[in-house]
Amino acid sequence: MSIDQDAETRHILDCFRDRLKQIIQVEPLLDQLHFLGQDRKDKIRAKLRADGDISAAALLIDEILQTQHDKGWPRELVTALETAGCTHAVNYVRNSPPEPTEEAENDSCVRLIDLMQLTLVNMKTTDVCAQCWSLGLLTPEDKENIMKATENHGNMNGARVLLKRLVKNEAGWFSKFLQALEETEHRELVRELRGEPCNEDESMSVEIRTVEEGEQTCLALAKETDPVLNGSMPVVSANSSLLSEDLDSSVDGSVLGASAENEDVDMYNGQEEEEGDPTEDDDPSARTIELRDYQMEVARPALEEKNIIICLPTGSGKTRVAVYITKEHLERKKQMGQPGKVVVLVNKVPLVEQHYKAEFGRFLKHQYSVERVSGASQLKISFPQIIEQNDIIICTAQILENSLAKAKTGDEDGIKLSQFTLMVIDECHHTKKGYAYNHIMIRYLKQKHKNQLLKKQGKSPAAIPQILGLTASPGVGGAMNQQMAEQHILQICANLDAFTIKTKTLGEEEAKTPYKRIARAEERKTDPFGDVIKKIMDEIHTHADLLPSCEPGTQNYEQWVVQKEQNAAKEENQKVRVCAEHLRHYNEALNQSHIIRMSDAFRYLDKYHNEELKTKSSPDDEGTVTITDTERFLFTLFKDKKAKLEELMGKPEYENNNLAKLKTIILKEFSTREVARGIIFTKTRLSAQALCQWIQENPKFDEVGVSASYLIGGGDQSVVKPMTAAEQKDVLQKFRKGEINLLIATTVAEEGLDIAECNVVIRYCLVTNEVAMIQARGRGRAEDSSYTLVAEAGSGVEERESVNEYREKMMSKAIAKICKMNRADYEKKIREFQIQAIMEEKVKIKKKQQKGMMKDPPSKISLSCRDCSVFVCSGEHLEMIENMHHVNVTEQFRKLFIVRENASLQERLLDYETNGVIACKKCGQQWGSMMLYKSIECPCLHIKNFVVTYDSKKKIYNKWGDLPIRFPAFDYTQHADMLVEDSEEEDTDGD
Ligand SMILES: [Zn+2]
Repeated sequence: MSIDQDAETRHILDCFRDRLKQIIQVEPLLDQLHFLGQDRKDKIRAKLRADGDISAAALLIDEILQTQHDKGWPRELVTALETAGCTHAVNYVRNSPPEPTEEAENDSCVRLIDLMQLTLVNMKTTDVCAQCWSLGLLTPEDKENIMKATENHGNMNGARVLLKRLVKNEAGWFSKFLQALEETEHRELVRELRGEPCNEDESMSVEIRTVEEGEQTCLALAKETDPVLNGSMPVVSANSSLLSEDLDSSVDGSVLGASAENEDVDMYNGQEEEEGDPTEDDDPSARTIELRDYQMEVARPALEEKNIIICLPTGSGKTRVAVYITKEHLERKKQMGQPGKVVVLVNKVPLVEQHYKAEFGRFLKHQYSVERVSGASQLKISFPQIIEQNDIIICTAQILENSLAKAKTGDEDGIKLSQFTLMVIDECHHTKKGYAYNHIMIRYLKQKHKNQLLKKQGKSPAAIPQILGLTASPGVGGAMNQQMAEQHILQICANLDAFTIKTKTLGEEEAKTPYKRIARAEERKTDPFGDVIKKIMDEIHTHADLLPSCEPGTQNYEQWVVQKEQNAAKEENQKVRVCAEHLRHYNEALNQSHIIRMSDAFRYLDKYHNEELKTKSSPDDEGTVTITDTERFLFTLFKDKKAKLEELMGKPEYENNNLAKLKTIILKEFSTREVARGIIFTKTRLSAQALCQWIQENPKFDEVGVSASYLIGGGDQSVVKPMTAAEQKDVLQKFRKGEINLLIATTVAEEGLDIAECNVVIRYCLVTNEVAMIQARGRGRAEDSSYTLVAEAGSGVEERESVNEYREKMMSKAIAKICKMNRADYEKKIREFQIQAIMEEKVKIKKKQQKGMMKDPPSKISLSCRDCSVFVCSGEHLEMIENMHHVNVTEQFRKLFIVRENASLQERLLDYETNGVIACKKCGQQWGSMMLYKSIECPCLHIKNFVVTYDSKKKIYNKWGDLPIRFPAFDYTQHADMLVEDSEEEDTDGD
């Protein structure tokens, strides 16, 4: 080769030195490099052993640069790099580096892997490795090295080697890696890498599964009869701990709406809300609305009747801006002699009241009629009437969506979008697939595009309202890079048909970002309590011949065990099924013991066992429920280990370090501040309660003036007794008055709820997405606020917080860029997204219609007990009440179950009430509830408690709606007649 090539390659190596040293694999490369002398190679190998790959690679480059080599060495180097699998490096050496954007994107992927390392090392390395190899991400030698590392030093070490290797691939490796993860059933990892937050999208699934097994005896009944929750069991809960709570699932009308085709969703919430208005008329400050400069600035396009999204941080008064825009809008309409009507949509029931009292009602009711729709109000007059009679209506998105749907089907009870002239959408980042906001906006978009057609044909278009979206942060939807972040925000803009997104640019009035601190708790050195639990789990593994593919205490384990339970139910393997069930609870206790006291985790297990035991004891003298050998084994196992667990939990030296860290922080914050008002965010209801109890029981906290209470969601979906709306309100009130100065809250408090200003915000071992992080931080609005993240070293929590911050930065950049976009480009992009959304909707409707036509007769299925596999009934004997409750009122069915009392018996609905739990006579497995429907006892079945045989295949369903079968409606009069006849012929010998 020419001298030129020699010089050029040297120059390239020099230029790209810093990058090349990151992506060269020294060891395999050295074997291939023959132009370097043995002594130099030895020197580099020594460096490799002492200082690792990067230093060795740097030395290697230096050695190449510093000496003369035989002709042709550049080609030899390229070939060697290729053989060693360093394809990314080859591109640089050949002087064809990737495009800057591609390079930047690749860098962000590398960074993400680095940030997520601690989570990723839990993967099933062997499986992922094999998959990566088949996708061409690894050379045979790489694969061998990874397998060796896994064998000799364990799964995590193998994973580390694999990850280190992967990031050295040329751009494009990331998506292949995701594919490999997906194919090896690491869906939760994929989700995390993509940044799809489990909390938001899976919330329903997660929360509800909790009830399912958690508090079977007393809570499932309420759920069974609760139309809001009925029929929404997920197949597998991905990526979340058993008890995790999410705000959306507990109060968010929009999420509820996704599962319940029931317009009454809101009626069961907040019924006791009808009370006097404390902010009554003589509030002089409420007569005028004064906006600050930045508020006026973001409002401007909306005042010019443009659709916009206003993005302002929590506490900067975005609702006030909306009130102002509403007022101006109505006044303008009045002046022009046109009708004006505003609907304010919220995504959580409590926000209806809050927006009314604190904002819309307070400022506008003197001039306009403002009405809120939730609770009992809807029962008195119909929703369309309320719309008709008021200027401003505040309601949940689901209520509106249901009424719009009714209008579509020709129901005169429905309403139309054209009745409104302005639609305010609160927390509008929820305007995305599957959410009620989006259903409404799809209707809007369809009409808008239809209008364009009508105009062309010279016909008059239907009116559509102006749209005003409000959010504290649109998020980036788990974007990996700047471009994806922009796409995400553009998508939201498209969904809301926004002309632009307005955010506060600069300004002195900037809501200050509180001082942030990370409190790192040391990794727990010894955990004898956890070891005992793991030992119990191992004994169960052995008993049931189970070989878990991942460590107990991880999310992978939870997924694995849930899958095992389902398969075992289908295979009628009662032994494995019951064991998997118990393992899941042990796994949860193990998880919790890292966050709350060992004694709290123990109580959780103890309660579970006691309740399980109760289901095995018969209610009366019938005595038919049998305990299997496996169950006996499980109960005895726990009983035997109980004393040991109790002994260990009494030793504070074994407690997790997170609690100690949290204690230090609380004590410091409360003793150094004149007035402290704090909020601790934690993941589960169980931990919120346990932490509160821990604080109350510890006099140290009392000494510094801590007065704590917990704040958790409503809805009957937890192992922990939920809080009613009134209880929530009471706690918030006390917090406002200062009677309580420390709230321990689940994420229910992150968004929306009107919580008094705090100066101490603590996120306790809590992982969420960037939207939730920003919102939690926004709680600390006071001047001297602090924001602390408590996380155990090595738990991955801190790393994910960094990911969130990284995404937050991308978000701000993306918004700024979108604001500067060329108008034509922006509109083209928005239109593309909108057309796509409309098309998708069409396809969906078509599919739904086809599905509707392909419904099978009920006789196609039969049910058997999920636990003991006993035959229960054929589908032919099932009937539906109010289109949602599946009942079997036949005599033969009645003989198969027992009725147990329910502790938390609640009278909830108008036409029916529940009378107890029905359970399998043979094994005690809960089947559903006894419902009293217009004075007839109807055993109501919940499908998740059964294995369904469908076309001779066994399947598990979590909601009835997933079955393509149409059941007949319950014939009330027929059954009533039969019962009357029966009682009349009491003494005759009816069969
Ligand atoms: Zn059974």
